Amino acid sequence: MSASTFQFDNTYARDLQGFYAPWKPAPVPSPSLLFFNRELALELGLDPKVLDGPEGAAIFAGNQVPEGAEPLAQAYAGHQFGAFSPQLGDGRALLLGEVIDRLNRRRDIMLKGSGRTPFSRGGDGKAAIGPMLREVLIGEAMHALGIPTTRALAVAGTGEPVYREQPLPGAVLTRVAASHLRIGTFEYFNARGETQRVRQLADYAIARHDPDLEGTSDRYLALLRRVAQRQAELIAQWMNVGFIHGVMNTDNVTISGETIDYGPCAFMEAYDPDAVFSSIDHSGRYAYSNQPLIARWSLARFAETLLLLIAEDESKAAVSKAIGQATEVIDAFPEWYAAALLKGQRQKLGLQRSAGSDDEADRTLAADWLTLLHQHRVDFTLGWRRLADAAGGDDQPLRALFPYPQAPDAWLVRWRARLEREDGHALERSDRAERMRRVNPVVIPRNHRVEEALSAASEYEDLAPFTRLLTALKRPYDESQDQAEYTEPARTEVTACYRTF
Ligand code: AMP
Ligand code: MG
Ligand code: MG
Repeated sequence: MSASTFQFDNTYARDLQGFYAPWKPAPVPSPSLLFFNRELALELGLDPKVLDGPEGAAIFAGNQVPEGAEPLAQAYAGHQFGAFSPQLGDGRALLLGEVIDRLNRRRDIMLKGSGRTPFSRGGDGKAAIGPMLREVLIGEAMHALGIPTTRALAVAGTGEPVYREQPLPGAVLTRVAASHLRIGTFEYFNARGETQRVRQLADYAIARHDPDLEGTSDRYLALLRRVAQRQAELIAQWMNVGFIHGVMNTDNVTISGETIDYGPCAFMEAYDPDAVFSSIDHSGRYAYSNQPLIARWSLARFAETLLLLIAEDESKAAVSKAIGQATEVIDAFPEWYAAALLKGQRQKLGLQRSAGSDDEADRTLAADWLTLLHQHRVDFTLGWRRLADAAGGDDQPLRALFPYPQAPDAWLVRWRARLEREDGHALERSDRAERMRRVNPVVIPRNHRVEEALSAASEYEDLAPFTRLLTALKRPYDESQDQAEYTEPARTEVTACYRTF
């Protein structure tokens, strides 16, 4: 084994014994590197010369454990579609270790699809190439949109099939995250009545994500508040780009506030608040407009795990005081979310100023805009983007999205009146349009494009469509000619029945 390019410093392995099972990745017959994220490698202080080749393939497929790695499967539980599963855990993933990146941030390096672990239950511990490349595309798109997310460092082909409904080529994803602490991690130890371990975990989370709270007397309540605030900001960002996660189980909600686990997720096309893409979500629990409600519900599950830590002692009076304090945080979530949503909507509407303006009036203006998109089944992404053209003085591209061109006119009159009230010296039209184009993307991972790229890779070993799409997704605000093929929605018949998973 040559000297590793990873400078591991593994706090999870060192400080949290009893919270995981040490484990090794399963060897695979024929590793090949399908994707390598050079830019992210550099950010992590890694050497692309070493990793972007056969040695990288061996490491990212799990055949070679890099020097300094201490691979382990993390224990966690979770509420899945509302029902509690006391034992989930990394059934097909292994944390290799942590590295400190160029900006001095601690980042987890995890393999996903690296074989069975003690948490695998009935699963094979493996992953197919399609879903792993999907995680690359959506994660990198989210990153380019400025939304907190785990990121993909590499995907390695394994040279062996995995059996789903049919045999599919196998692959392993290497995922980078601020941490893999989940609400479900806390639930695992809380459900076992291991309060000391919940405390140890909470202190670890604080040291890692909120070090300014270390040693403060009300740090567990403050941790709850921070996690709730991060989730409020995150979900607002999802909503403002039309992202639907699809499986917001509590094991898929991070303490860091990063989006994690891109399974049956999708970006909405024609605006519909009831949009659901996951074929396993029969009740619409994780529908677009339910996401803020579900986030709050999940945070209440998190709060429950912290109650005995928040309480000064285990007396009835102390615990009921803690319940009151935690409830205040959970009850504040809708306001934090609404404020974050409005902040994003104002930017998307081209409003620079909030001071002196009326929150309720702006909220109504945004809500009426969305109602208009809904009524006329207008593409969410293009609707917003063409509003930037309208800000520049050209209404035609926007009106062309509607079944009849006058449909948005009455709303446009109200919007323009609001823009005029912006400030004493109104922005130049073209400046406003430019600003709006920097917050309203034109290239998102459209479902038909993603499927096309994944099936070419999975069925024909053709990675060219994937690579082209990825390149386009890295420039979401750029409407140059070479991006044009990625800006259009699918024909409606395709979209209407689109199902992930
Ligand atoms: P997910 O739905 O991907 O968030 O995963 C939920 C749980 O199922 C986690 O404990 C995963 O590790 C586990 N899991 C998912 N797929 C597999 C698989 N192919 N083999 C073993 N465990 C799996
Ligand atoms: Mg998961
Ligand atoms: Mg998963």
